[in-house]
Amino acid sequence: MVFAGMPGLRRLLYVSRRALAAATDGQLAGVVHGWAHHNRHHAVTGFLLDHRGWFIQVLEGPGQSVMETYRRIEADPRHSDLLVVSYERAAGRLFADWDMCCQHLQDDDAAVLTSLGLPHDFDPRPLRAGTLISLLEAIANRQRAALAA
Ligand code: FAD
Repeated sequence: MVFAGMPGLRRLLYVSRRALAAATDGQLAGVVHGWAHHNRHHAVTGFLLDHRGWFIQVLEGPGQSVMETYRRIEADPRHSDLLVVSYERAAGRLFADWDMCCQHLQDDDAAVLTSLGLPHDFDPRPLRAGTLISLLEAIANRQRAALAA
């Protein structure tokens, strides 16, 4: 895929298939803080959903930082079949409060899936960027509410 080298804030959304060799949930949680440190250093914010064998991740920040981060992620053997759903200019950050947050869908997220017309075992690959971003925003809002409680 060719990415335009335009300056300014960018948002990249991709989906990938979790590799068999991927870390378990607990192991992943243990390394995400290291990724957050890297993202913070490069002014990258983002959100990662780990759901039923799929990763859905959004990265936002300066275009060059987003692309450098994505290039490293792309080479990671813990997932495969990466598909960039969108890469676009962004007027602002949707996940400004997350250097990196890795979340799973929970039982009380069922209403979110229903509102988006998604079954619990949805395949993210054919979905539009807007649907996936709405899903990640809803999960982020649930996490924000939990942290504020
Ligand atoms: P090194 O740590 O030097 O590792 C070298 C190679 O080994 C890399 O290809 C690396 O991917 C791989 N590797 C490292 N640890 C393991 C392991 N435990 N098991 C298997 N392979 C391993 N990084 C970020 O900085 N920001 C992010 O937002 C981010 N999101 C990610 C989302 C997903 C779904 C995955 C799978 C990884 C993500 N990473 C993220 C991690 C990223 O892919 C790199 O592993 C990390 O940034 C370190 O890069 P490095 O070049 O310093 O690799």
